[in-house]
Amino acid sequence: MITRKSPGEIEKMRRAGRIVAEVLALIESELKPGVSTGDLDRLAEQHIRAAGAVPSFKGYLGAGRYGKGPHAFPASTCISIDSEVVHGIPGDRIIRDGSIVSVDVGAILDGWHGDGARTFVVGAVPAATQDLVGATRLAMMAGIGAAQPGARVEDISAAVQDVGRARGYGIVRPFVGHGIGTKMHEDPQVPNYRTGRRGDELKPGMCLAIEPMFTLGSGDVYVEEDGWTVRTADEALAAHFEHTIAITDNGPQILTTIL
Ligand code: MG
Repeated sequence: MITRKSPGEIEKMRRAGRIVAEVLALIESELKPGVSTGDLDRLAEQHIRAAGAVPSFKGYLGAGRYGKGPHAFPASTCISIDSEVVHGIPGDRIIRDGSIVSVDVGAILDGWHGDGARTFVVGAVPAATQDLVGATRLAMMAGIGAAQPGARVEDISAAVQDVGRARGYGIVRPFVGHGIGTKMHEDPQVPNYRTGRRGDELKPGMCLAIEPMFTLGSGDVYVEEDGWTVRTADEALAAHFEHTIAITDNGPQILTTIL
């Protein structure tokens, strides 16, 4: 069931989204060679809690994998490096020059969720890597632009897919965007590729997380034995961008922003 949020509820989601954007800006400023992913995660959690919010990923129950059964995500952010796509677990790993680092942040404020992600480039990377990161962000923005009242979920999917396909990138299919509100994952699903179905009509008050994941390879992925980390099957680099948006009478509005 798709829920539609009132203008007042959207304002509450905007406050949660602003905290997410602040954390991503903080991580961008602290992300340099020599820092550990665990250090970045601690900074993120401190900022979220100081803002009166709760990190939504911490304790989030994932599907049982590798005989472990359902298990809780142990950190406040997902930090995924190079060929890791999403859901990387922060820890002792040290950020190195020339890496790309995807950071996903979720915060709950007064019961309302914000969810956002960016891929950061550390130091100098090849032009092809820079292009992957830029195009993944562009695909997210194209998807947001397609999220107009009266359009369909498939219009978002098509806009995202077209950016990736024009450049020959792999498009990660098992993980998709989603509705968001008082739960992190609500209906509808928002695939990053055409499904051949028009999907639900987009109406004012619907809030979505739009989050393309592109790779320099096939787009095939697997989950590592930690039960969380999603990595490209061919070890190709992957990028991930995500904004939480609200669909309004005037078009889409980005909620995970400091502005
Ligand atoms: Mg999300």
